[in-house]
Amino acid sequence: MSILFGGTENLSGIGKVRAEKYHKIGIESVYDLICHFPKKYFDFHNNVSVQNAVVNEQNCIKLKIVSKSKPQAVRNKLVVCKAVATDGTDNITIVMYNNVYAFQYLREGNQYYMYGKVTENFYGREISSPTYIHVSEKNFIQPIYRLTQGLTVNMVRADMKKAILAMKSEPFETLSDDIRRKYFLNSLMWSMEKIHFPDSAESVEQARRRLAFDELLRLQLGMMLMRKRSKRSTSFRMDKSTDIDDFIKSLPFELTSDQKKASLEIISDLCRDVPMNRLLQGDVGSGKTAVASIACCFSAKNGIQSALMAPTEILALQHYKTLSGFLKPFGVNVGLLTGSMTPKQKSLIRQDIADGKYDVIVGTHAIIQKDVEYKSLGLVITDEQHRFGVSQRSALAEKGGTPHKLVMSATPIPRTLALMIYGDLDISIIAQLPAGRKPIKTYAVTGKMRHRAFNFVRQHLDEGRQAYVVCPMIEESESELFAVKSYAENAVRSDLKGYNVELLHGKMSAHEKEEVMQRFHDGETDVLICTTVVEVGVDVPNATIMLIENAERFGMSQIHQLRGRVGRGQFESACILITDNLSDECVRRMKIMSSTTDGFKISEEDLKMRGPGDFFGNAQHGLPPMKIADLSCNIELMNDAKQCAMEILSDDPLLEKPCNTSLKMEVIRLFDKDIIG
Ligand code: ADP
Ligand code: MG
Repeated sequence: MSILFGGTENLSGIGKVRAEKYHKIGIESVYDLICHFPKKYFDFHNNVSVQNAVVNEQNCIKLKIVSKSKPQAVRNKLVVCKAVATDGTDNITIVMYNNVYAFQYLREGNQYYMYGKVTENFYGREISSPTYIHVSEKNFIQPIYRLTQGLTVNMVRADMKKAILAMKSEPFETLSDDIRRKYFLNSLMWSMEKIHFPDSAESVEQARRRLAFDELLRLQLGMMLMRKRSKRSTSFRMDKSTDIDDFIKSLPFELTSDQKKASLEIISDLCRDVPMNRLLQGDVGSGKTAVASIACCFSAKNGIQSALMAPTEILALQHYKTLSGFLKPFGVNVGLLTGSMTPKQKSLIRQDIADGKYDVIVGTHAIIQKDVEYKSLGLVITDEQHRFGVSQRSALAEKGGTPHKLVMSATPIPRTLALMIYGDLDISIIAQLPAGRKPIKTYAVTGKMRHRAFNFVRQHLDEGRQAYVVCPMIEESESELFAVKSYAENAVRSDLKGYNVELLHGKMSAHEKEEVMQRFHDGETDVLICTTVVEVGVDVPNATIMLIENAERFGMSQIHQLRGRVGRGQFESACILITDNLSDECVRRMKIMSSTTDGFKISEEDLKMRGPGDFFGNAQHGLPPMKIADLSCNIELMNDAKQCAMEILSDDPLLEKPCNTSLKMEVIRLFDKDIIG
């Protein structure tokens, strides 16, 4: 087998320990390593003096090594290497941990550009674990990688060099010369090398463009192939004349005109020979569940089962309650199946599903497991809340032949983007909210105003209302718990003293989360301090305050989503955004958030300000993870990729030609499963 697809330990210098570190960040093979693209670049030309370095930040300083000390073994397994260096005016201590290897290359008297975090203590300034290049080095632009503990940039660079060498000994290319010429793309080998070892900012751009194009192309090909597959006929064609007027009249509200339109579009899809493949987009609270219930009722009247899949147990339970409330009076049986049920409960429910006792089954992904057999599953609805991915969608499609599919999403996506990324779906939009909703006032303030903001929160609490406080998810998931816990402890001692406060975070079991949510729902808890787990559509009409800490860390669409948790009842609601980031971009975003509650408008603004790359980078779009398209992507590149995908498929509809084999493998790799054929 080619060395490229073997484990990283096949490269000289990579042992078990290092391979394990790579494994931790999802790198198994040498090829994975090469596809570990830099998250950004650093230009060593941007350097400062020791004195002007910003403490506690990454800085680049041009330094001459004055003296090196001997590496010291401090605690078990910790080796500290220190050296004193100077920029000509000031001294600074260089500290490296467990990296004797990188340390030994530093020579006394030599000059280097060093990039690392600068700190200050009693003895003066320190720069820790810097990345460095010798001043004579021509490559001033150096990649910065996503790392893990024990893995340094220097190690990755050294390993990458060997990986690229291995790759160049067996070169390959996925695109024909014609395509590359037509879309002005560099060769794959050149791009793979330059992305890691650029010789100029220009070459980074060109390499990124090529690699991003590849990624977008695979995405488009995958979408188009899925769409093609879903055009096969369905055995669940329903009867146009099915009468559900009584059911619609029985709903506790008059449908909005968008809800009516969406329902009609869905029903007309259900009555065709090809399976429905539709996206129902609508803001939080726009009433998608009611539309889903209409589709379920229609199917049930046709003797066909439906499944509604929710991303969390909380939400599944909520949908179960809503749907059974609506549908039971009409003789439609709704069942619930979630992962946290006991094996015994599960097997009983599975039996009833197989016997057709339930017309509608609500649950988490447990309902698409292999062991769940349906009597006649003809409609599958996923309440995506942007948590499910394309590949889950196609997994569902395989259940019980070719059922109709409806995906509900609360992420308003600009139409241009939606057409491209949901290329496999038809789209229905609920743009208006039901009448009578009180608009949510949004205020953006700095941390200085926090106490005043909490005064406002307490006023609401004292009137019997409830509040959410959201802390951002921390990147390394270990500290998420810490961040939200210490925040809560603080708040309970000060601003929220005397109130019932509970925590909700991703480290809790589904069962714990459900209990916390239940207590909040029942009004036993005044304030829920949480990470973004709450984003998923929980419905607590008595909650009227959404306070978001570090609002700069959230995208506008995400804030919009969070804000949708309040304003669901008859009370005035407010959203408070706290941020100390006063950059132009952040201020502008806060302004937009305070001035509109229209989700589609917000997403258009998001797209305008940050480009589609931000959308890809967010990882909440339900698409396969993008390695590079988020860094270098614009609408033109997306259009090019789409155009190119159409050309390729018109020549080779199922990617069966030998020249497309590697492309096909990449598409399968991206979607994590065989979506072709
Ligand atoms: P979504 O799933 O789109 O976020 P839901 O279906 O949960 O929204 O609806 C939000 C709330 O609005 C629910 O309490 C629901 O009963 C109510 N609702 C739905 N449609 C209407 C309507 N046409 N008029 C008034 N209230 C509605
Ligand atoms: Mg919902």
